Amino acid sequence: MRTKVIAGNWKMNKTPDEGIKLINGIKAAANAAACEVVVCTPFVALPSAVNVAEGSKIGVGAQNLHFEDSGAYTGEVSADMLNAIGVKYVIIGHSERREYFAETDETVNKKTIKALEKGLVPIVCCGETLEQRENNITFEHIAMQIKLAMKSISSADACKVIIAYEPIWAIGTGRTATDEQANEVCAAIRKTLASIYDEKTADTIRILYGGSMNAKNAEGLLSMSDIDGGLIGGASLKEEDFSTIINFA
Ligand code: PEP
Repeated sequence: MRTKVIAGNWKMNKTPDEGIKLINGIKAAANAAACEVVVCTPFVALPSAVNVAEGSKIGVGAQNLHFEDSGAYTGEVSADMLNAIGVKYVIIGHSERREYFAETDETVNKKTIKALEKGLVPIVCCGETLEQRENNITFEHIAMQIKLAMKSISSADACKVIIAYEPIWAIGTGRTATDEQANEVCAAIRKTLASIYDEKTADTIRILYGGSMNAKNAEGLLSMSDIDGGLIGGASLKEEDFSTIINFA
């Protein structure tokens, strides 16, 4: 049985004080839930988020990290820095980082390896554009992203990775993949993982869906066989909506 994960990606939203309020607002739902609950906050909100989440079932994650340990990388944050303040998860290769900050499959792989080496749980994102979907290359594209992201990662480490399938055309657009569309790709990701590793490893890895998941559509998506939770943007900023999604999981 895979424990479901409900992870909020706050993106560039919420000051530290606003973050504290939001975390306090979702604590009751998180503490009552059988799933893992994660909030991925902006870097500056991480210390106060860790502080306020302490003693609850909420884990705190970053939205990025650098793949080197330290050095002349202005503006970057290392895995050791995240560990030092009690961060447990890190989103890697979100499509917005790939699109606006030139992240590549190669940097995604390096960051995933670094996160695992340092004991952080990587939430590795993949997903196709609308053009790729319309040209029927979704499955090839996702398989390639997964193979490159997981390059040189052992089966034991792979089991610690969380994959997030996020069709780019569904992120922040209000246009959600249908339950079947989302499940079909998550199942294909599991097949790809089985081809890289083995069935047992693939069956252990949690695969989330992300893309306009909200309080209305979460129940259907979360009941699908290969969807092990959600990576949620917009709806994770509203305590009621995020709590509702946690309750479904
Ligand atoms: C995301 O940022 O990962 C995401 C899925 O955003 P939204 O839920 O707003 O589409």
